[in-house]
Amino acid sequence: MKTIKDFDLKNKRVIIRVDFNVPIKNGVITDDNRIKESLDTINYAVNNEARVILLSHLGRVKETADLAKNDLSPVFDYLRDKTTLKVHFSSETRGHKLEELVNELKPGEVLLVQNTRYEDLDGNKESSNDPELAKYWASLGDIFINDAFATAHRAHASNVGIGSILPSGVGFLIQKELDNMLPVINNPIKPFTVILGGSKVSDKIGLIANLIDKVDYLLVGGGMAYTFLKSQNKEIGQSLLEEEYLEYCRDLLNKYPNKIILPVDNYCAKEIGQEGLIKEEMDSTDIGLDIGPKTINIFKEYLVKSKTIIWNGPLGVFENPLYANGTKEISSSFNKNNQTIIVGGGDTASAVINLGYKDLVTHISTGGGASLELLEGKDLPGISIIK
Ligand code: AMP
Repeated sequence: MKTIKDFDLKNKRVIIRVDFNVPIKNGVITDDNRIKESLDTINYAVNNEARVILLSHLGRVKETADLAKNDLSPVFDYLRDKTTLKVHFSSETRGHKLEELVNELKPGEVLLVQNTRYEDLDGNKESSNDPELAKYWASLGDIFINDAFATAHRAHASNVGIGSILPSGVGFLIQKELDNMLPVINNPIKPFTVILGGSKVSDKIGLIANLIDKVDYLLVGGGMAYTFLKSQNKEIGQSLLEEEYLEYCRDLLNKYPNKIILPVDNYCAKEIGQEGLIKEEMDSTDIGLDIGPKTINIFKEYLVKSKTIIWNGPLGVFENPLYANGTKEISSSFNKNNQTIIVGGGDTASAVINLGYKDLVTHISTGGGASLELLEGKDLPGISIIK
């Protein structure tokens, strides 16, 4: 697969598809991780005297009111004020003004273009990979570099569309994601443990199917654990349940009785938001919101003897500190010096970062859906378009 290093960038108009889909509150970026992760590629292009055009989406644009909410100008302010880049901003996603700004770009300068999904307002053009839009954007550049890992599972005009027209390669961020994740998925050093959490079994079926035969242990926590527990006729009170997956969970537990490890105690409240109690037996009014201390210890025993760990999905409703203990305890137990630990999924990534344990893990993926699809063994269209 071609990378940015395979191209002579000097004086070329280089379109880089980045993922600047960052959380913004009152015009202020509240988590700049994705921008920081993009800088290696942008700086490389700048240092090689490319004329850099940055394309990114932000949020979803379905109606006119979404335009102001998803304006990329705070990202422009960030790039101008917090980096050394010489950066310009095009408030248009197509037309004369944009073309003029592209033509005026000097080698080593950067042009950030307004949210690509502004084009969705008129017939979903960006998100449906409209060929005419892709052709137009491709006409602005000589080379295309895709570095938007978190969007690589989507076939949009700004990644797959342009990538199918211009000579293309991947940037350092996509390369880093693949280098860290593919060997672990394809050839994990054993013992290999997957920790699964989050809300729903149904979201993780593909991942379970792709990895269950490769793993030594599958530790299940979070909301999805209760459908597994219920399938064993355990009382789960008012905890999250997906009735239609009971049989699936029962079959999986029968087929892999020694691989799948379920919680033996839970932190339960009567209402979400209230304090609760640790329980080994729930009653009909309990809601399981976190794994309990016995479960944490059991999970840690499996983790300490593992050489490879993949973690997708928080082990409780970690957004509320009352229910963050399991996620916190497990995050703090890693040791990247003698284990490979990959954290995927937007919620799990932000949990590990916000809890302050980023340095204990080998790799935190910048992609939620994209890392899940990679773990499911699927081809990501934004990457497979690059030859
Ligand atoms: P996912 O996107 O599938 O990784 O799910 C993440 C969400 O799962 C987070 O917002 C958590 O609050 C939620 N979650 C984790 N544990 C539970 C639980 N016991 N009950 C309900 N939701 C949960």
